[in-house]
Formats: sequence, structure tokens, C-alpha cells
Amino acid sequence: MMGKDSVDENITIQIGENVEYLNQEFEGKVKFIIHELIMDENHAYLPDMHTDFFRRKTGMINDLLDPVEKKGAINIFIFETYAQPGQQSALMGFTPILRARQKSYSHNSPKFDRIFMAYPGLIDKSTLVHEMGHFLGLRHPWEMNHIDKELLGLHTSSTKENNHMTYGVNVDRFTAEQLESMRDFALRFRGYLVKEIGHILN
Ligand SMILES: [Zn+2]
Repeated sequence: MMGKDSVDENITIQIGENVEYLNQEFEGKVKFIIHELIMDENHAYLPDMHTDFFRRKTGMINDLLDPVEKKGAINIFIFETYAQPGQQSALMGFTPILRARQKSYSHNSPKFDRIFMAYPGLIDKSTLVHEMGHFLGLRHPWEMNHIDKELLGLHTSSTKENNHMTYGVNVDRFTAEQLESMRDFALRFRGYLVKEIGHILN
């Protein structure tokens, strides 16, 4: 909780509800557990962090985050946001990812174990689910070729409209193929953050 120096009970409740919804939407394929809630009085605005990140000016970001982030966990940083001039809506979240060489996630840890989101993004609960999709290797449907979309079960326009990896008010599901793909990605590339459970011996 960036920019906070005292507990805001509404926000801690919202965080709990967001993680609950996250687990609901992942249908047990990957399970998320809140380890710790941390407040930090340093603040920044999400769109500024986003601009710096994409201009590779990460010095300020690292100075801000290094002291608070934890190794061995997904660090979700929540910031204030604002709508940029000429844009109707404010940026609600982004997730720095490696486009290639995903095997280097573990060597770079915790630098790529970060999800950035905005406090207002906690309200409809879909921001965290969308960003976790990116964290576990999913792309927006409009960035994918036909074959990749078919492989992930994004066959029809209605499937795409409702999908967590698009934008909009109607998003409420992943496809079975996306869930399988994220589980596989978690085990292959994010294994340093994952504890495998549920092996039943009989
Ligand atoms: Zn996205």
C-alpha cells in the first residue's frame, strides 16, 4: 500500500476480496495466498511509473520499491492514479514482463515479480486478475495470431469479449485453455514462487 502511513481498513478489506476473487477465477489451477500487507509512506502515481518503466528509466522505481519488496513472492504495489490529458480513463494496472527468455525470471527475481495497480482498480476486482494473467504469460487477444488464439480457446468474439485478458465491464472468465497455460507457465517459469501441492499418492 504505497503512500499510506496508517491502516485504511476499507483498503485492507478490498485487498482481501480481490485475492478471494482472484482465487475464484483461477479455479484452483493456481492458488494465491496473502503473505503480508505492507504500508509505505512513499508515494508515486501509477501513470508516471508506467512512463518511466517503458522509457527504461527504472532508477526511481527501484529506489522506491527495493526497500519494501520481498523475495520469493509476487509483490503487488498499489498506487494512486490519474487520467492523463486526452484520455477518458485512468491507468489501473501494469505488469513488467520479459517478452522472451522467460527462464530468466528466476535470475532476475524479485525485479520481475512485480504487479503495479491503482487503488481504484481494487473496486471492480478485475484489474488484479488481468494483471496476474500477464504475470503468468497471457497476452491480450488482439496481440495474438489466429493459431495462438485457437490454442487458448479464444474461438468466438463473445469468448473474447468476456475474457479477463480484454478490457471492458463484461470480463468475467478465463478459458479452460488459458487456465491450463497459466498453471504450466507458473510451474515452468515462476517455479521459484510456487509451492507444488496436491500430489495424491495412492
Ligand atoms: Zn493488459
